[in-house]
Amino acid sequence: MIPAAHPIIGDEERAAVDRVMRSGMLAQGPEVAAFENEFASIVDGLHCVAVNSGTSALHLSFLAAGIGAGDEVIVPSFSFAATANAVALAGATPVFADVEPDFFCLDPAAVEAAITPRTRAIMPVHLYGHPADLPTLAAIAEKHDLLLFEDAAQAHAASFDGKPVGAWGIAGSFSFYPTKNMTAGEGGMVTTPDEEVARRLRLLRNQGMEKRYANEIVGFNTRMTDLHAAIGRVQLGKLAGWTETRQKNAAFLNEAITEVVTPPTAPGAVHVFHQYTVRIEGHDRDAFAAELASRGVGSGVYYPTPIHRLPSFELQLDLPATEQVAAQCLSLPVHPALGQDELETIADAVNAVARAGS
Ligand SMILES: *Cc1c(COP(=O)(O)O)cnc(C)c1O
Repeated sequence: MIPAAHPIIGDEERAAVDRVMRSGMLAQGPEVAAFENEFASIVDGLHCVAVNSGTSALHLSFLAAGIGAGDEVIVPSFSFAATANAVALAGATPVFADVEPDFFCLDPAAVEAAITPRTRAIMPVHLYGHPADLPTLAAIAEKHDLLLFEDAAQAHAASFDGKPVGAWGIAGSFSFYPTKNMTAGEGGMVTTPDEEVARRLRLLRNQGMEKRYANEIVGFNTRMTDLHAAIGRVQLGKLAGWTETRQKNAAFLNEAITEVVTPPTAPGAVHVFHQYTVRIEGHDRDAFAAELASRGVGSGVYYPTPIHRLPSFELQLDLPATEQVAAQCLSLPVHPALGQDELETIADAVNAVARAGS
């Protein structure tokens, strides 16, 4: 079976962990500081604050920017639950807006229609590694005096009009979960142009302390360990090469797959293909995936249930494009460990299953 995801861990990552183990300093220390400095290179030199997960990155970014009770944050419902959980955990209310079915990201017109007197922020998700329409969303945020956050958990080094994701608003959040484009085992990073927000993030992740035992505010322990940072540093060095391979794999699949809707890239966007997601029209998507599996091709559905309909939120909303893509989306393997023969197998299987009319 060709797996849908394949984390790549090499000897350099093992050596880096061993180096930290031998140093005897395991918790947040010099490796985390170095990882933050190095990560700044992919976000135009912004402040970077490492934490223990992408979810913590999102949660703390809202708290650090002063989002809380009574505030509304506009997010897509077509995302991983952490997107909306982070808003709710900050005490604010996620307001779900519809997506564009071509790019699977927030529809700017739907965002504008969702603005109320309580709206404080907009948070697009760069789903599957395709940047949301950041120029338009940034203009809407400016026009209505709203903060722009980015859920860039799936989009390391993606960009729009030459500007990297994570650098468009008050804060961007990245994840280093094992299946993401680069991993630290677990981990997250907040990027921000605002020095005061960066300072509050550093306080929030460490019990409100900058100076030991001089706790200034009530904070969490959401620190990244030096073990994780050491893995992340090695992976960051490999990110550009892996991204190029993902893009080449996607370009091949876009050419070779003719029988289902392949993913387009918006003009001005650099897509980093965390996932390669097709839309299955005129077939039952789950039966299609089962047929692919019987031909040795793994796939994934991200995400089968829009967040607003999950038991954790249970809202009655009319989001037609969200419902459409949740029913049709199917992510095929695109990871950098694929060989040419496997890419051909994937494309041939997709075309054959579509023609057979599963
Ligand atoms: C992975 C992911 C997160 C959460 O990241 P974790 O590191 O797993 O906490 C948030 N948003 C999206 C869109 C994700 O894909």
